[in-house]
Amino acid sequence: MGKIIQLDTHLSNMIAAGEVVENMASVIKELMENAIDAQASSIQIHLRNYGLTSIQIIDDGEGMDASDLTMAFKRHATSKIKTSHDLYRIASLGFRGEALPSIASVAKITIESSPNAEHGHRLIIQNGSVTHQDIGPPRKGTAIKVEQLFYNTPARLKHLKSEQKELSFIVDYVNKTALAHPHIRFQLTHDQKTLFQTSGDGNILKILHEIYPLEIIKNMISFEAKNQYFDISGFLCKPAYTRSTRQQIALYVNHRIIKNNALLHAVVSGYSTYLPKHKYPIVYMNINVDPLFIDVNIHPQKLEVKLTEQKNLEQLIIETIDTHLSKENLIPQIKKEYEPAKHPRSFNFDEASDKIVEESKQTSYLETSEHPPSSVLESTQKLPYLEYIGQYEGTYLLFQSEQGLYLIDQHAAAERIRYEQYYHAMQTDTKHVQPLMIPLTIPLSNQEMIALKDAKSIIENIGLTIDLSDSQQLIIHEIPNWFLKGDEADYAERMVRHVLHKDQISVGELIDQLAKDLACKHSIKANHYITTHEVQALLKALKQTKNPFTCPHGRPTIIQFQRTEIEKMFKRIV
Ligand code: ZN
Ligand code: ZN
Repeated sequence: MGKIIQLDTHLSNMIAAGEVVENMASVIKELMENAIDAQASSIQIHLRNYGLTSIQIIDDGEGMDASDLTMAFKRHATSKIKTSHDLYRIASLGFRGEALPSIASVAKITIESSPNAEHGHRLIIQNGSVTHQDIGPPRKGTAIKVEQLFYNTPARLKHLKSEQKELSFIVDYVNKTALAHPHIRFQLTHDQKTLFQTSGDGNILKILHEIYPLEIIKNMISFEAKNQYFDISGFLCKPAYTRSTRQQIALYVNHRIIKNNALLHAVVSGYSTYLPKHKYPIVYMNINVDPLFIDVNIHPQKLEVKLTEQKNLEQLIIETIDTHLSKENLIPQIKKEYEPAKHPRSFNFDEASDKIVEESKQTSYLETSEHPPSSVLESTQKLPYLEYIGQYEGTYLLFQSEQGLYLIDQHAAAERIRYEQYYHAMQTDTKHVQPLMIPLTIPLSNQEMIALKDAKSIIENIGLTIDLSDSQQLIIHEIPNWFLKGDEADYAERMVRHVLHKDQISVGELIDQLAKDLACKHSIKANHYITTHEVQALLKALKQTKNPFTCPHGRPTIIQFQRTEIEKMFKRIV
C-alpha cells in the first residue's frame, strides 16, 4: 500500500518536473532561490560539462536540520502563505515546496546541510526517494549537488539547446540574479573556470562591469525618479550601444526579477527616437513599490508581474528615460569601431561597378561580369528594353516600352543588386582576406560572448578570423576583402548581431541575412533624386541580376501598366 502511494508521488513529481525543470538554467534558478531565501551571503555555482554532469550550489545560509531536510523533498512542504507579501515572494520565486522534489525526480541529488557549525546532515536521493542518509560536514549552510540531470527523461535531454546556448542562459540568469542581490557574493564556475564573480559589496555598477566591458560601463547614465506610487532607479546605457534583442533590459520590482511586456515597452519608448528600429538598449532598473500594489500571475515558470497603477509607472519610466537622455551629450565618442557609416553614400552605380570591377581584379568574385554565365544572359531578357522618362516622388523611376508604362522602386531595385553582389561575395570569396594591423574589437557582454562560441566556425566560414578568448570582447584579426573600406566595424557588428539574434544560425542563413541587411543599408533610399546617368547604371545592373523582380525582402522592384489598360481607362478603346 505504502509503495503505491510512493509511486504516485514519484510520478506526479516527474510530471511537475516537466513544468518546472526545463533545462540546466531552471534547476539553477530553483536552487539559487532556495539559497537566497535561506539568507545566504555567499552563493557558489559550480558546473561540470555545462551542468549535464553536475551542478553544485553551495551557500552559507540558514541550513536545515535532519527533519527539515527530509521535509524539503516532500511536495508542498514549505509553502506557508501568511500575507500578500509572502504570496508575492513565493509566487515570484517559484513554488518553494515543489522545486526540490521535482528536480529529485529527474536527477540524482546529494544534499548536505547544517543549521550551525556543529551538526551536519547528508541525504542522497535517487529515483525520487531517499537512498542514503547519514552525517554530513558541520558547515553552516547548504551544499546541493545535482548529477545526471534528465537521465530518466531522454525526451527532455533531446530538447536542450546547444551546450553553449544552455550555458549562456545560465550566465544570463546568474548575471540578473546578482544584480537583484548586490549584497550577496556570487561565483559561477564551469569546469573550474570562473565565468562570473561578484564581491557582494552592494555596488551595482561593479556588478554591471562584471557583465559588460568598461567601454559600455563608461557610457551608463544613472537615474532616479519617483511619483506618488513608485520609486525607480538604475542605469541606462547611451543609445550608441544597442542590442538586437530586449534581453539586456533587466527589470526588477523590489529587487526581484520580473517579466512585464508593457514595462519593457515603456523603456523602449523612453529611448524612442534615439534608437533605430529593432534595436534595444541596455538598462538596469529597479522599481520600488508597496507590495500591496503587486498582482502576481501565479505560474511556476512565469515571472509575469502586474502592478496596480501600472499606466502611472509606464509614464514615469518614459519621462525619466527621455529627460535623462536629452540632458546627455549623445554624440557618440568617436572610436573607429563605432563611427557610423557615412551616409548617404555615393549612389553612382558606374563608380560602384568600376569599384567592383577593380576589386574583382584582385578578388575575382565578379569575374562573371566579363564572362557572364548563362544565367546572366537569360536574365538580361527577363526585363524588356525600357526608356527612362523621369522620376516620381523622388522614389519611383518611370520607364516606357512598347508594352506600356513601368515604375521601378529605386530602393528595392538597388537593394536587389547589392544583395546579389554581397551574397555572391560571401559564398564564393572567402579566401581573399586581409589581416588587420590593428585587430577590430567589438565589446559584448559575457553572455553574448558565450553564445557566440557556437557560431565560431560559421563566422570563419565567411572569411573572418576571430578570437573569442576575451570574455567581454570579440577580437577580429582578419576580414574578407569584400568588407567595404572604412565600414569594417559596421560590417562585423551587423554580422555579430545576426548571429546572436538566432538560436542557431546556419552559414546559408547568415549569408542571406547579412546580405539583406547590408544591401538595405547601402542602397539608395526613397526620396532621393538621382541623375539619368545613375538611372541607366541602375537599370543595367538590375538586368544582370538573377531575380530582377523583387527586392531580397520580397517587395516588387518593378510594376507595369499595360498600354491597352491605359487606353481603356481613357476610353480610347473599349
Ligand atoms: Zn531596404
Ligand atoms: Zn527590401
